Amino acid sequence: MAKGKINVSVENIFPLIKKFLYSDHEIFLRELISNATDASLKLKHLSTIGESKVDFGNPQIEIKIDKKGKKLHIVDQGVGMTKEEVEKYINEVAFSGAEEFLEKYKDTAKDSGIIGHFGLGFYSAFMVAEKVEIITKSYLEKEDAVHWECDGSPEFTLKKDKKKDRGTEIVLHIADDSTEFLEENRISELLLKYNKFMPIPIKFGTKEIDDPKHTPKTIKDKEGKETTEEQKKISVDNIINNPNPAWTKQPSELKAEDYSSFYRELYPMQFEEPLFNIHLNVDYPFNLTGILYFPKLTTNLDVQKDRIQLYQNQVFVTDNVEGIVPDFLQMLRGVIDSPDIPLNVSRSYLQADGAVKKIATYITKKVGDKLQSLFKNDRAEFEKKWNDIKIVIEYGMLSEPKFFEKALKFALFPTVDQSYFTFDELKEKVKEAQTDKDGNLVLLYATNADEQHSYIEDAKEKGYEILLLDSPIVSHLIQKLEGENSELSDKNQPIKFARVDADSIDNLIKKDEEQISKLTDEEKGKLKEIVEAFVPKEKYTVQLEALDSKSNPFTITIPEFMRRMKEMSQSGGGGMMGMNNFPEMYNLVVNTNNDLMQKILKAKGKKEEYVNQALDLAKLSQNLLQGKDLTNFIKRSFELMK
Ligand code: ADP
Ligand code: MG
Repeated sequence: MAKGKINVSVENIFPLIKKFLYSDHEIFLRELISNATDASLKLKHLSTIGESKVDFGNPQIEIKIDKKGKKLHIVDQGVGMTKEEVEKYINEVAFSGAEEFLEKYKDTAKDSGIIGHFGLGFYSAFMVAEKVEIITKSYLEKEDAVHWECDGSPEFTLKKDKKKDRGTEIVLHIADDSTEFLEENRISELLLKYNKFMPIPIKFGTKEIDDPKHTPKTIKDKEGKETTEEQKKISVDNIINNPNPAWTKQPSELKAEDYSSFYRELYPMQFEEPLFNIHLNVDYPFNLTGILYFPKLTTNLDVQKDRIQLYQNQVFVTDNVEGIVPDFLQMLRGVIDSPDIPLNVSRSYLQADGAVKKIATYITKKVGDKLQSLFKNDRAEFEKKWNDIKIVIEYGMLSEPKFFEKALKFALFPTVDQSYFTFDELKEKVKEAQTDKDGNLVLLYATNADEQHSYIEDAKEKGYEILLLDSPIVSHLIQKLEGENSELSDKNQPIKFARVDADSIDNLIKKDEEQISKLTDEEKGKLKEIVEAFVPKEKYTVQLEALDSKSNPFTITIPEFMRRMKEMSQSGGGGMMGMNNFPEMYNLVVNTNNDLMQKILKAKGKKEEYVNQALDLAKLSQNLLQGKDLTNFIKRSFELMK
């Protein structure tokens, strides 16, 4: 038996390991299973290239709990280690690796969240164990098995062992403060979290299944009543992982149902089918595989539980892909697997990393291509899905210039009558009718077909198209479209978006023909005086307009610019922070051509009543009439009926 001292510069590294990232102690199991997997894959490789004569068979990794002995065993059938290899890889390399890692990160580790996931390696065992044993036999027949033991001080022992079969067994003597790792449920939970898709089968305990050799018989008793015998059960190895998950296969090997069953495998609690998927597969200039799914998204973006999962060579790393996947795609689901994502750096470094940037660009491009081909190949289907995917696309157009360019060709603009136009189609369609006298193309939109109903009707009357744009970020998007439109080409006609209730329809799209006013200038002056006398000045700007005599007498409008700024400041960004307290100001458009105006001018004693009634009706159509004002309105209306 040999005794030795691990060459350490830090006086005692083990207390440090123990304290390291307290909440992440559980990763020891992933590290040890990763090593066991590596060892098994190495052997497989050696036998494929003919360097190993041993029968590779179907190696497994087994996890065993010995509750009484307070031990956890991780057993593999991989390459194993010779005595020299233990000395080199465990005592020198692994140890110095762990030491270096801790030295480098002990100060910054706490804030970065992701650090500690990778790199601590074999020595992470000491986060949960007071003593660790390695019993290992190399695949090289003539080598003796060895037994290494270390109790958490820099001293270790190394002796011969009787182990006959190739592979490595790691025995953890679980420390008193870590006994949770002797619980079957806890280990199961960890295996499912980190190892669900690892490439070597992992066995944990046994389970009962129906005996395939036994088919239950149906027996008739004396009275002819049929009873069926009970199905016999047998006990089999419980393999917890799927070593060949869908994303490791070629798209050509997979059918639609394989993609949906993999979705279910990833998110067992998701019952809704995803809308479509995108298979990612590159090996140059970086390695990346994966499958992304577009889930059905509603405008209500509640905190998402089922997020994109990041793997490295089929080992789960995290479901926080911030900094790796562009923000707008974080609403998607699925898996990304790449060995090229550096994980032992902080998030801010990650965002600056060249490989990671390329990965984000690649993913964005793939998503754009997929959407484009869906649009091209089956437009009807794409239109049907539009409402469920628009949030992602609109958000992407706002945040990624490259994506904006591509998406402008397939982003849809639905009208209140459920026609869908692309941006170019829309401009072409409305060009004739909706160009104003200054040459601007005015694109009308509503955000709520019910609330803005009367304004929509007024616009339809004129033969205009009204879009229905109801996502929460629409004000940001139209702001961007207006700006980009002129930037894309200076030959483009300038465009202006206007919500239907932003002004009277004649003012929204001003035409050359001057409307003739039925009132004289003197009458107009008088009318303005009367209206202003009864309408609260701090809330309404009175604006006389010679509109169609059939248009409403009074209309309340919120200028496009004001409302948009307010909305943009509420939904964040746009440099409008702190402008949340916009004063509540409206325009009161008074239609001088409506017959009611004559009545108001001529009425004796009833002027106030008429003005208030007309104002309340205008408020009502904007959903602004509430409380005491509503009560008064109802009373007054009944009075007027008498
Ligand atoms: P890494 O896995 O990054 O190399 P570790 O600290 O996890 O670092 O492991 C150090 C080395 O110990 C491995 O590279 C490998 O050579 C050896 N090793 C660890 N576990 C096993 C095992 N189960 N079978 C064979 N070799 C192993
Ligand atoms: Mg390792």
